[in-house]
Amino acid sequence: MPRLSETSLAVIGSGIAGLTAAQICHRAGMSVTVFDKGRGVGGRCATRRRDDFAFDHGAQLIGATDGDFKGVLRKWMIATKAQRWKGQFSGLPANITPFVGAPSMSALPKMLAEGLNLYLPVEIASVVAEPDGQWGLLDGEGRVLGTYDAVLLTCPPEQAQRLTAGILSEPFEQATSTMRAVWTVMAAFQRPVKTGFDGIVMDGEPLAWAARNNSKPQRDRAPETWVFHAASDISEQFIDHPKEEVISDLLAAFEHWLDAPLPQTIYTTAHRWRFANAEGPAVARDDVSFFDPGLGLALAGDWLNPPHLPFFGIQSAWQSGHHAGQQLTQWAKAR
Ligand SMILES: Cc1cc2nc3c(=O)[nH]c(=O)nc-3n(C[C@H](O)[C@H](O)[C@H](O)COP(=O)(O)OP(=O)(O)OC[C@H]3O[C@@H](n4cnc5c(N)ncnc54)[C@H](O)[C@@H]3O)c2cc1C
Repeated sequence: MPRLSETSLAVIGSGIAGLTAAQICHRAGMSVTVFDKGRGVGGRCATRRRDDFAFDHGAQLIGATDGDFKGVLRKWMIATKAQRWKGQFSGLPANITPFVGAPSMSALPKMLAEGLNLYLPVEIASVVAEPDGQWGLLDGEGRVLGTYDAVLLTCPPEQAQRLTAGILSEPFEQATSTMRAVWTVMAAFQRPVKTGFDGIVMDGEPLAWAARNNSKPQRDRAPETWVFHAASDISEQFIDHPKEEVISDLLAAFEHWLDAPLPQTIYTTAHRWRFANAEGPAVARDDVSFFDPGLGLALAGDWLNPPHLPFFGIQSAWQSGHHAGQQLTQWAKAR
């Protein structure tokens, strides 16, 4: 029986799902290599930094309902990388106790990436079968980035399907979730915005969420910074809109909600998430990731385990990555 270290695994994507699975396999002794096309780890669990400003522009807070995930969240708190967000909230469902990464959402994936063999920014363009039963990863210029016994893809379904074209079709046909878009606007203001709320669930016309980023723990020395998310319907309708117009439209919508003028902005930018949130019916616990042991190909990510609200996306991604990691280590032990 080969030793676990003789089983090589490539993980495509260093979001919460990919890093969770990679750590499980790495700790079990497998030889793990992680690739991400981004400049940093974390995927949608992200923090944008410019000059003196930092914005959690993807996932806003961590909601936890699952007992295992609550245990993981406790470990992240003990490691000082997660803290309770003791803000004032409007419209947040009562079953959500908001936690956040500290000092930023990106602190969580950075911690999860520790000790992993990681290559960034490297975009994988295809996964190809090698004659010896292994998988080769190719970049956009056709360069082979190593061969592996198994590959775990954690990119959104459209990308995972393209990378495995002609090899995998069933899991994509069976997936019931849809990836929805979100326009995000980030703004820093000269003075505090006059509202007692730090996180606001809005009616979706056009804003779905507004948050005072500097009210989150370990951000209190930062200037007044806000993150605004447009609802998915309107984000998709205006997906190709110029950034400047999206910024002014969403700030105007927030001003309308406040019923008072906003302070002068000192910095604004926008980010378009084409694949922001997975929406769809809940799946059975055994289906939160996909693995074909004959092929050695696996899939994980929130889209295989859609959360019932976007605030539980990180939990969904963790559950999927955890499940994939367990399946891959069991498979490697049995080889
Ligand atoms: C605007 C917004 C708000 C959100 N709010 C919340 C919230 O409040 N609470 C919450 O829990 N969740 C929230 N979420 C959802 C949460 O962020 C996601 O559910 C979770 O982060 C998904 O993790 P993942 O690992 O499945 O995917 P991702 O984080 O998307 O990771 C996939 C990774 O794959 C990489 N990749 C893709 N293609 C390739 C390729 N070809 N080669 C190499 N790398 C590739 C990407 O760069 C990315 O890093 C929000 C998301 C967004 C965008």
